Amino acid sequence: MDFTLPREVRLVRRSVREFAEETVAPLVERMEERDEFPAELVRAMGEIGVLGLITPPEHGGSNLGHLARMVAVEEVSRVSAAAGISLQVHHMATAALSDFGSDAQKQKYLPPLCRGDWLGTCAITEPTGGSDLLGMASTARPVADGYVLNGRKCFITNCHLSDAVVTVAKTGEGPKGISAFVVEKGTPGFSAGRHEHKLGLRGADTGELVFRDCRVPRENLLGNEGEGMAVALRTIGEVGRPGMAGTSLGILQACYDESVRFAKERTLYGRPIAQLQAIQWSVAEIFAELQASRWLCYHAAWLKDSGADCGVETTLAKMYTSEAAVKAAQKAIEIHGACGTMMEYAVQRLFRDAMVCVSAGGTTEIGKLVVARAALA
Ligand SMILES: Cc1cc2nc3c(=O)[nH]c(=O)nc-3n(C[C@H](O)[C@H](O)[C@H](O)COP(=O)(O)OP(=O)(O)OC[C@H]3O[C@@H](n4cnc5c(N)ncnc54)[C@H](O)[C@@H]3O)c2cc1C
Repeated sequence: MDFTLPREVRLVRRSVREFAEETVAPLVERMEERDEFPAELVRAMGEIGVLGLITPPEHGGSNLGHLARMVAVEEVSRVSAAAGISLQVHHMATAALSDFGSDAQKQKYLPPLCRGDWLGTCAITEPTGGSDLLGMASTARPVADGYVLNGRKCFITNCHLSDAVVTVAKTGEGPKGISAFVVEKGTPGFSAGRHEHKLGLRGADTGELVFRDCRVPRENLLGNEGEGMAVALRTIGEVGRPGMAGTSLGILQACYDESVRFAKERTLYGRPIAQLQAIQWSVAEIFAELQASRWLCYHAAWLKDSGADCGVETTLAKMYTSEAAVKAAQKAIEIHGACGTMMEYAVQRLFRDAMVCVSAGGTTEIGKLVVARAALA
């Protein structure tokens, strides 16, 4: 067993870390204050190739794979988890198009999505509940030249800025009565609604998408009619959940970095608090969670790259890492004492960001259901 990351993945880590520190870090304060996603980041991410990491070269990507993508999401999220979730949800759109799109759809949508000319999203969740996919209320009524969409999607990342939206709606009853579509910004009857203001991940654009008698041409059906459940499950399970695992992993790494830095700098009783055993134990606990999470995440991504079934492992990675990030952020705040609760210290943001990652991409309870089903099969 070789645990060394492949050379190209290490190169991705190096270039994305540099990008995150030089380009993303200066935007964090503005994102926190205004709770707006900086549109210029889309083009910048396109320029360093991070938007096309899981898209084949013939459609404008590098196809470096899911392990490279995991590391890239981790590195961006280490600096800004809000930028990390935006990147990972964009990948959900490119993955759905790569996996289920027609040649014409791939040629039309993937190159601008990889270049950063366009931003993408994947809109599944509805007010009737994200966990209950079949409970969705949105409909797609077949008409002569396509479909008429009606309904509402909520909590959607990249909501107001997306140019191409992968979405699902009912074309019939039951699991085979759901179909997937790609809808372009500007399509009559399609609009972005309310902008949500969240506890954490401030600066990630989250909101509502509304379809009101929205006519979508037949060529925008993604996959076959009735295949929407497969599109949603595969995209959430194999791309969205590991993406949120990577986002949480970046937060965990930042908790560790901030805790070590503070423990070495803060002096009490004439010496750094790093020399207090209680602080050492807290740092060790954060490190243990970081290492356990990292290998769950990398293993899940590696499985996906190797073509094996990975739904249980991606879910486990998401469930474990998002919970571990919350615990690590709490410990990090405690290590900082009162400073940890002050807005100028990053750990309070890390805690808020970690809390939001627990439900995004599927809650812990749904994660446990997936893992338990496999364990008890
Ligand atoms: C920041 C953020 C970004 C997001 N981005 C997107 C996006 O881009 N696209 C998108 O489609 N969605 C997105 N979502 C939505 C996200 O996927 C959902 O929030 C998630 O699936 C949970 O759905 P819900 O919030 O409606 O909770 P609900 O489904 O209403 O669940 C409520 C509670 O019931 C529990 N529960 C539900 N079912 C069961 C069960 N069977 N057994 C035990 N407990 C259960 C849940 O665990 C939870 O505790 C985002 C969410 C957030 C917070």
